[in-house]
Formats: sequence, C-alpha cells, structure tokens
Amino acid sequence: MTISQIINDFKKNNPGADTTMIRLAYDFAVKAHAGQKRKSGEPYIQHCLHTAFTLVQIKADLETIIAGLLHDIPEDTEFTLADIEKNFGKETASLVEGITKLSKIKYRGIERYRESLRKMFLAMAQDLRVILIKFADRLHNLRTLEYLPLEKRQRIARETLEIYAPVAGLLGVWRLKLQMEDICFKYLYQEDYKKLAYKYEVEKKLEHNQYIQKVKNLLGAKLREAKIPFKITSRFKNLYSIYLKLRKKERKFDEIYDVFALRIIVPDIADCYKALGIIHALWRPNPGRFKDYIAVPKPNGYKALHTTVYGPGGKPAEFQIRTKEMDDGAKYGIAAHWFYKLDGGRGKNAHRQPAWVKEILNIQKETENTSDFIKQIEFDVFNDRIFVFTPKGDVFDLPEGSTPIDFAYYVHSDVGNQAISALVNDKIAPLDVELKNGDLVEIITDKKRKGPNRDWLKFIKTATARNKIKQNLRRSVLDNIRRFIPRIK
Ligand code: MN
Repeated sequence: MTISQIINDFKKNNPGADTTMIRLAYDFAVKAHAGQKRKSGEPYIQHCLHTAFTLVQIKADLETIIAGLLHDIPEDTEFTLADIEKNFGKETASLVEGITKLSKIKYRGIERYRESLRKMFLAMAQDLRVILIKFADRLHNLRTLEYLPLEKRQRIARETLEIYAPVAGLLGVWRLKLQMEDICFKYLYQEDYKKLAYKYEVEKKLEHNQYIQKVKNLLGAKLREAKIPFKITSRFKNLYSIYLKLRKKERKFDEIYDVFALRIIVPDIADCYKALGIIHALWRPNPGRFKDYIAVPKPNGYKALHTTVYGPGGKPAEFQIRTKEMDDGAKYGIAAHWFYKLDGGRGKNAHRQPAWVKEILNIQKETENTSDFIKQIEFDVFNDRIFVFTPKGDVFDLPEGSTPIDFAYYVHSDVGNQAISALVNDKIAPLDVELKNGDLVEIITDKKRKGPNRDWLKFIKTATARNKIKQNLRRSVLDNIRRFIPRIK
C-alpha cells in the first residue's frame, strides 16, 4: 500500500480537494514510526496506510483520513497529542485523542467487553468519526491476526464479532461489518468456515449464478417494457450470515435460497414502487417478508423496499429496491451521510443525530452499572425492531418484545400515564401482551387516571417507558406529600 493510492482514491470521491495535508500526515507518521515493525515483519507505516485506505473506501472526510494515518502516534511513539495538534490542528488532534482513549481498556474477560462497548458509545456520542477510525484500525488488525499467538487471536476475533461488527451494522457501515465478520468467523469456527466456504464458493456457486441470471433476464425484460431505467446487481450474503441462518433455523444448505440478494437501482421513489409491482406480478410474494423501509426507514436511516418472492422453479429470491442515493447510504452508512459531529444538539448537524444515539445517551444516564447498561442497549437498540401502527396510521418502531405500555410511552407520556387498556388489531388485549410487527394498537385512556401503575415496571421492555414511569412515580409521591402538607414549601 502506498500513499499515492490513498490520495488518488480520495481525489476520485472529492475532485478538486487539496490533499497536501494527507501527504504531510504521511510524512509525519513515517518519521514517528521509523524503525518500528508490525508482528508480520512489515514496516509499521503499512498499518497506518491500510487504516487510512479503508477510510477512503467508505468515503470518510479529509480529517478522518488524516487522523487514520496518525492514530497510533501518541501511544506508540515519542510524539504526543500536542505535537499532532500543533501540526494538524485541533479537529484532527481530538479525533486521535478519541482513538487513544478507546484503546486504553484494562479490564479482563466479560468486564472488558462491557467496558469497551460503553466507551465506544460514549465516544460515538461525541464524534462518530472516532468509531469509523476504530473500525478501519480493527479491520487491518484482523487481516494480520495470523501473526499473533492463538489466545490473543481468538480474543480479538471474539471481541470484534460481539461488539465491533454489531455496532458497525447499527451505524449502517455494512461494508466493514461484513468484512470483519467473515475474518472472525474464519478464526473462531475454523471447521465450519472451511466446510461452508467450500460448499458456497465451489459446489453451489454455478447453480446460484444460473438462477440469478434467469431472474435478471425475466425481470429486465419487464422493466424495459415499463420504460423504467434500472441497474440490477446481485450480492451473495457473507459466509457468517449464512452460517447464522443455518444454525438458527437448523436448515440444510440446499434449502437456503436466500443466500443472495438481488438489488435493483432505479431513478426515483415512484419507480421503486413500480418495480415492486412488476416483481409481485411476475412471482408470488411471501407477504411476511415484505418490508417498506422507504415509508418507514430503519432507525439508522436505512431506506429500501425488501421483498422475497417465489421465483423461477418456486425457489425464493430476495429483492432490495432502492434509488442511487439510498444505495450509497446503505453501503457507507454514517460515513456517507454528513452527520458526524454530535455536540449535544448545539452544532449545525445536530438535527441529524439518529434517534437511537439519543436513546443510548438516555440509557447511559439512567443506568448505574455497566451490565444493566449493556443489557438495556442490547434490548433497545441491537434487538430487531417491529413496526406498530396507530389508528391514524402513524408508525412507531419499537424493539421486539415491546408491550402496549411501551408503545403508549413512545406515543406520549400522557397516553402512558392514563392507559387503562389496549386494543390490538381491534381486539381487547392485556397491557403486557407482546406486540407483533404490523400490529395496529390503540391505547384506551382515562383522563382521571393519576399516573402509572408500579406493576408495569415488571413487564415493560424499553428504557424509554421505564424512565418515564419512574419519573412519574416519583412525581406522584411528591404530589401526595404536597397534598397532605399543603403549606410547607
Ligand atoms: Mn492501530
């Protein structure tokens, strides 16, 4: 890897950009890491270059790439953060500082995971770019894992699979998530990996390619007939996600046809729905698998139409229909959007802070110990989301397993506080029933009701509902005190 490759690729995404600072950062890193070698025997600067290169690939901005080149300097060389600030400015220095803080984790075992996850979310709340650099750094470390002792190799692979990859998915940086997962899969489940890689890359590939070609031909003809300009691409799912599918559903490989996705890129949103209509007219859809992420984007901003149909020969095929803009967003996630700096709602990009980052910060405020914090995040953010509708047609996305009371508090505190019963799909349902994707939920309220029921805390699932119920219980205790002792202030 050379610095010219990085500069050239960066210029492709940013024509006319001044890349002098990238070159200077490289020169500085070469000087700082002079004589140092990686475990692989390569000069240390290669690690800095690979980190920066990955950042260019996910379309990160100039400061992020510079910080990628400099990221190991304060910790591993005689130069300090102050030297970086003096030469490259405050912004770059604060990114490098964020990375340095993240890497100082002294815990062992499960505590280590928890602590690194917690730190990662805190860094994220300050500046999402720090996480991007951390991902790029980790990816190169994974690629050179073979040079580490077995125990360390497995620890890093496990930590990546449990923490880094899910967070990358959450942020929508799919490109990095998929690459990290397959490398970790290879190191952690060697035998399974070998078997699956053989099946997938040797035995089944031809059969799948023929099937995909057939689907493309049939659909292409219809789209041309309808005069919709389009591009169809197909992507095989990564080995690790196929492995998870096989394990979860205990299905044999032969039965799995959704190991690939066909992606259709069309000019605008209206064309997305038209293309969907054409696909559903060609092949019978599986209604449980249709998702409209255009009308209701995922919490991380992901937009597309997803549908699975029984394609040629009755074999399932999954389609993802999007515009070009949505496609870029899906590939690069937060790196493609420009909502980096999240300075507590004051910055000019603060309005782009995704809702779940706020959720995480709320959870962080309310939970004292780390393990509760992790549990709540896993539930509220990592868990699969369901979409629930109000009678007026508004949509709320909630974590799977949520109840009508969770829903009520998402709608409004008053709706939660005054809830007495619920209608789910027009039928009376208990307040603790588990809601399903697509449910229509109406909360029956009683204006005279003073506040939440303490027993709700036993079954509600979301931190949002929990925090609001606790606040209101506290308040009603205070109200009672005031009522009984009215003159004391
Ligand atoms: Mn590094």
